[in-house]
Amino acid sequence: MLTIKQAQFVISSTDYKKGPQDRKPEFAFIGRSNVGKSSLINMLTGNKKLAKISGTPGKTRLINHFIINEQWYLVDLPGYGFAKASKKDRASWEKFIVDYLTKSESLVNLFVLVDSRLEPQKIDIEFINWCGEKQIPFSIIFTKLDKLSGSEYARNLTRYKKELTKTWATIPPVFGTSSTSAHGRESVLNYIDEILKSISL
Ligand code: GDP
Repeated sequence: MLTIKQAQFVISSTDYKKGPQDRKPEFAFIGRSNVGKSSLINMLTGNKKLAKISGTPGKTRLINHFIINEQWYLVDLPGYGFAKASKKDRASWEKFIVDYLTKSESLVNLFVLVDSRLEPQKIDIEFINWCGEKQIPFSIIFTKLDKLSGSEYARNLTRYKKELTKTWATIPPVFGTSSTSAHGRESVLNYIDEILKSISL
């Protein structure tokens, strides 16, 4: 399994061009605000304070780069809960996320976080479909698995897959995680490791 020996904050930006330019592979994380993104990043890296807890002013609307093992970047993207934002607000801060996702040449995988307790949410499905259309390499991480039983998770997972097969013939990789129990940590880190190895071949 991939061992995280070092995880360090590098830079916050609103313009992907101002982020690191050394072409190291980037693994980005996105999801609706409160989905458990900061907790997951901290759980994966084994650093309780790496990602700022939500509610920290400003930070949540920036692209945050962290360098891992001096080898790759973990990229914490702002949440996309734009439903309540005004069109103008949405457009401006959405643009830099869209630019990053569609133009960054270093992005090798986007993890789209989804709350495992909820039925498929329109906003998540729309975002996932958009990633597919734009051919952004992505996978799905279900969060907060500890909050529901195995059978409830199985049911929700089936619903999600059913929803996605309406649009897509193949479903991207899916991981179930819990930041409180660290469930899924190994699977996600192994997946990152596999991608890193395939790049360095
Ligand atoms: P973010 O806004 O997506 O970065 O979400 P946070 O990581 O700040 O988490 C939002 C809330 O959900 C916090 O109160 C966390 O303690 C809680 N939370 C996050 N992940 C988990 C999890 O895996 N299990 C449980 N039970 N609670 C979680």
